[in-house]
Amino acid sequence: MTYDVIIVGGGIVGLATAFRWLEAHPKSRLLLLEKEDRLAAHQTGNNSGVLHSGLYYKPGSAKAKLSVGGLQQMIAFCREHRIAFEQCGKVVVATTPAELPRLETLWERGNANGLQGLRRLNPAEIRKIEPHAAGLAAIHVPQEGIVDYPAVCEKLGDLIRQRGGEIRLGARMLNIAPEGGQQIVTSTGGRFRGKFVITCGGLHADRLVRAGGQKPGAQIIPFRGEYYKLRPERAHLVRHLIYPVPDPKFPFLGVHFTRLIHGGIEAGPNAVLAFAREGYKWTDLNLRDLAGSLSFPGLWRFLAKYPSMCGYEIRRSISRREFCRSLQKLVPEIRTEDLEPGGAGVRAQAMTADGKLVEDFDFVEVPGQLHVINAPSPAATASLAIGSTILHRVFNPGISV
Ligand SMILES: Cc1cc2nc3c(=O)[nH]c(=O)nc-3n(C[C@H](O)[C@H](O)[C@H](O)COP(=O)(O)OP(=O)(O)OC[C@H]3O[C@@H](n4cnc5c(N)ncnc54)[C@H](O)[C@@H]3O)c2cc1C
Repeated sequence: MTYDVIIVGGGIVGLATAFRWLEAHPKSRLLLLEKEDRLAAHQTGNNSGVLHSGLYYKPGSAKAKLSVGGLQQMIAFCREHRIAFEQCGKVVVATTPAELPRLETLWERGNANGLQGLRRLNPAEIRKIEPHAAGLAAIHVPQEGIVDYPAVCEKLGDLIRQRGGEIRLGARMLNIAPEGGQQIVTSTGGRFRGKFVITCGGLHADRLVRAGGQKPGAQIIPFRGEYYKLRPERAHLVRHLIYPVPDPKFPFLGVHFTRLIHGGIEAGPNAVLAFAREGYKWTDLNLRDLAGSLSFPGLWRFLAKYPSMCGYEIRRSISRREFCRSLQKLVPEIRTEDLEPGGAGVRAQAMTADGKLVEDFDFVEVPGQLHVINAPSPAATASLAIGSTILHRVFNPGISV
């Protein structure tokens, strides 16, 4: 049998794409392959659970366009399917004079991206929203919130199956070979024939591009983000979401406080090089992955560009006291003993050979195949919009977002 489409990757991007495909083409024969024995096992299941808006992203970028629309689509999906979410709002706090111009840039970007209801806050106004936060100035982003992404994925999986899609777990895709105008996908779960293949491989995105016979143009470098949890008796120090002003040289948002949708406060994530693409602890080592990162000239150029920042991230990963010091900039009352070890997630960050981090969502397209090569944060928030964009690109090749 020939599938109309084979989608590889059971994270939120692959699932949202399958869902959008079946919504637009209900009679399609669709197969989704996931190498793990469950959905959302990697980035999606280990992220911060935040519904981002379009505050940070360059106006006109795919991230800016898809996060604003994607947030609305995600909220509509959660409402319709009774998935836990809350638009609790977030404050982005400048704690030094040097951060004030950068906060201003965020203000301009947020407005350019069409965010409604943004408010500038002075220190007294910050304390009204977050009584224990300290800062010189802040932006309040009312539409941001928190959500249960694993529950979103479970629901997407159910809907895909109900609409006739097939999901095979424990099936690792090994190769894609064009044959007679179709694509033959070889996996550990069997060989399948499809008219079109879409890969959404997250931490393995570049390898899936290569498995399709294409050049990825960037390599995935895994950056682990580690979390602490606030001890329950200190959870009152944070009401909602408290974020620092991000360093524009670095794509990650900086350690922040997040209220979790099912209770508790998380602090983090930091960003350290992982020794395995799915390396959730310092001791997780995969020689193939590590050799791949260390032999990539882009990583060395990146490390040479930001030596002090990389050193600081390692110190902060090893030292709870250092981690706590960055949190104290936002909430001075936090003490090292308030922090309990939390989980970790690994970000799939595409990097080019000249050491630049690919900021925007990015795709590799050839006839019969579309590969998502870069879908970093806020791709979970934007996943339903990314799914629609992928469909649009498949049916209108050459036309971008
Ligand atoms: C620490 C952290 C915090 C974040 N916080 C947020 C946040 O608060 N809000 C937000 O919007 N975004 C956040 N993000 C980003 C967001 O989680 C990701 O952008 C999103 O989950 C990407 O989804 P994905 O489906 O592309 O990747 P993944 O969720 O990683 O899924 C890829 C899937 O492909 C499978 N796969 C790989 N290779 C194969 C193969 N050969 N065969 C079959 N299957 C394969 C993997 O097993 C995996 O299940 C965060 C990310 C991290 C790591």
